Amino acid sequence: MKLPERVVITEVGPRDGLQNEARIIPLEDKVALIDRLSETGLKRVEAASFVHPRAIPQMANAAEVMAGIRRRPGVTYVALVPNEVGARNAIAAGADELAVVVSASESHNRANLNRAIAETLQEIAKVARLAEEAGLPWAGYISTAFGCPYEGAVDPDKVLSLARQLRDLGAYAVALGDTIGVANPRQVYELASRFFAEVPGVPLRLHFHDTRGAALANVLAAMQAGADQFDGSIGGLGGCPYAPGASGNVATEDMVAMLEAMGVETGVDLQALVEVSWFAEQVVGRPLEGRVRRALRKRD
Ligand code: MG
Repeated sequence: MKLPERVVITEVGPRDGLQNEARIIPLEDKVALIDRLSETGLKRVEAASFVHPRAIPQMANAAEVMAGIRRRPGVTYVALVPNEVGARNAIAAGADELAVVVSASESHNRANLNRAIAETLQEIAKVARLAEEAGLPWAGYISTAFGCPYEGAVDPDKVLSLARQLRDLGAYAVALGDTIGVANPRQVYELASRFFAEVPGVPLRLHFHDTRGAALANVLAAMQAGADQFDGSIGGLGGCPYAPGASGNVATEDMVAMLEAMGVETGVDLQALVEVSWFAEQVVGRPLEGRVRRALRKRD
């Protein structure tokens, strides 16, 4: 079986996860969640989104979050930025790395970013210049890469063309997002294989949702194609904005449990991660979706 020796995991719970919570999470809980995550061996944490507070009230205190966390040496704290203003604010707040988003489908891009894809790419070019001036790497996320809530199937050629454009703008990594959790392992294997063949020179990251229970199977399929970078969300925090009540991102601890059992190194302490997952459940005040978190017990 083709497997990487190790994988790099980006924990997106504090941003992608909490962003989906209806109840506003107090600043100190966000900070505590990020600090605890960064003590588990995770090397990358998406900590905040520098989006306009009117658009996403949950992310209104992004700068305070960045100022409040204990920076653990060796951990990269990532900020999502929707535009140039967000990038300026994220850089000023001390983000180590930026992430930008564009959809593979025009109607989703309009719904999510209120712009055409071409206009979003122009905005990303401005973010890229700011990041370069600040000496920060940035990753380009392609939403709806495996399916769109409005348009259904998404043409893989379109996804790969966008990936090449992001690479050419200077992205240090390109992530394909299964925004609505419709990807299946065969599709993942085929798209990831094409990515490696047709978008050389930039690493691939994958962002899966467990909406239909296929997230871990998709991780495995992606590894079979050569992928070694994945996003995960503690406890499976998050959701699907198009399907209220549906499962969210793949649970980081479930992914770590599977990978470590297969002999693929993650660098993460599973028991410590599960304990953070229990804490995350207290923070959001609702039962979380992950599986391993229900199977393990507290350390004696
Ligand atoms: Mg997500």
